[in-house]
Amino acid sequence: MCRQVRTKREMERIVRTAAGEAVLDPSGRMSGRGTYVCADPACQASAGRDQAIARALGLSGGTHATP
Ligand SMILES: [Zn+2]
Repeated sequence: MCRQVRTKREMERIVRTAAGEAVLDPSGRMSGRGTYVCADPACQASAGRDQAIARALGLSGGTHATP
């Protein structure tokens, strides 16, 4: 996570489902607790990204939300 300020178009939304899983939300309209991550491939490949997403969503484990 680079924590750079980006426009919404450059971000992807990740939502925590009722099942406690983190899923990609391309529409940006899914309900639930969500967080925005960079759509930058270099950033997506960075170590610790899944953990950062999980932390943002209050999940204990990692995620498999990377496209
Ligand atoms: Zn980033």
